[in-house]
Amino acid sequence: MSGTPGAAGDLLTGPARSGPDESDWAAAVAAVRRLPADARVLLICHVNPDGDALGSMLGFGLGLRRLGVRHLQATFPGPPEVPEPFRWLPGLDLLVPSTGAYPDPDLVVCFDAASESRLGELVDRLDTAGDALVLDHHASNTRFGRVHLVDPAAAATSVIVDELLTRLDVPLDAEIAQCLYVALTTDTGSFRFEATTPAVHQFAARLLATGIRPGDISRQVFDTRPFGAVRLFGEVLGRARLEPSAAAGHGLVWTYATQDDLARHDQRPYVLEALIDSVRCTAEADVACVLKQVGPAEWAASMRSKGAVDVSAVAVALGGGGHRFAAGFTGAGSAEDVVRSIRAELDGALIAR
Ligand code: 5GP
Ligand code: MN
Repeated sequence: MSGTPGAAGDLLTGPARSGPDESDWAAAVAAVRRLPADARVLLICHVNPDGDALGSMLGFGLGLRRLGVRHLQATFPGPPEVPEPFRWLPGLDLLVPSTGAYPDPDLVVCFDAASESRLGELVDRLDTAGDALVLDHHASNTRFGRVHLVDPAAAATSVIVDELLTRLDVPLDAEIAQCLYVALTTDTGSFRFEATTPAVHQFAARLLATGIRPGDISRQVFDTRPFGAVRLFGEVLGRARLEPSAAAGHGLVWTYATQDDLARHDQRPYVLEALIDSVRCTAEADVACVLKQVGPAEWAASMRSKGAVDVSAVAVALGGGGHRFAAGFTGAGSAEDVVRSIRAELDGALIAR
């Protein structure tokens, strides 16, 4: 959810691919404009959706609704549970469980997903849909659709949604703005990360001008958790480990949370998404990692870097993806096994200066 410090160029794999060109935008606009009146449109965001995934998808969905698209569904793979901080978003009525999603929509639009694997059981829609549009800002995007609006320089996928809605002549209203604002603030860490350009603040200004309330939104999204989550954080942060010699001396700090930790404190998995922000402030480590147990011997790893290490290179090497400063993957074995695999990749992911 939080702590995705934007999408700078990838120094290790060469210059970042530049954003969409005019023909990409024209193709995306045409894909929407040529839909027949009774077209079925399916919107999909990535598994374990965060603020950018949900906000971008629902904001675009509301825009399509304004354009008169009547058969419209939004979905994501896995359990159809929206994390509590996002349960007030406009457009939630568009959501259906993945099991109820159109099997062969006229158009599928994917949000914030860097690769097909992030679409889980919905991946077959890329083949069954009449057309496939991909909106994303990951440099590692594998371009798995037909039309791609992928801009690694965009601070959030919602920046791309905004541009497409503008080109479709959909005016910003407060409902759409709430969705896109949540997406923008989550992925820029509330305007703290490197990707926070003047254009990002100009976009935020246009969103705020619709009358939305940033204080209320931030409190809901970032500053409201059950008391059990506070206690859980205390326990999990208490077992954090600092390894100053890892990453060729740039340092690694890490901790883990088990399914039993969640059960003991009666908490849902989403509360762990904010944990990385409390770990990554460690001054003595360039790299921070939180391992979240997702199965008996399966861990979702979240990694953050302050700049010495390209954590997306580590994540890609271990089967995941992400950005240079924020990336993740799913690892097998014990927590110690997964950390060992990270340690082994860290030296090779140092960024030449
Ligand atoms: P987070 O740590 O907040 O879950 O994710 C940070 C970044 O890494 C996000 O940009 C997300 O897209 C990417 N990411 C996290 N987990 C995975 C994964 O398992 N696979 C891929 N491809 N990307 C991931
Ligand atoms: Mn994003």
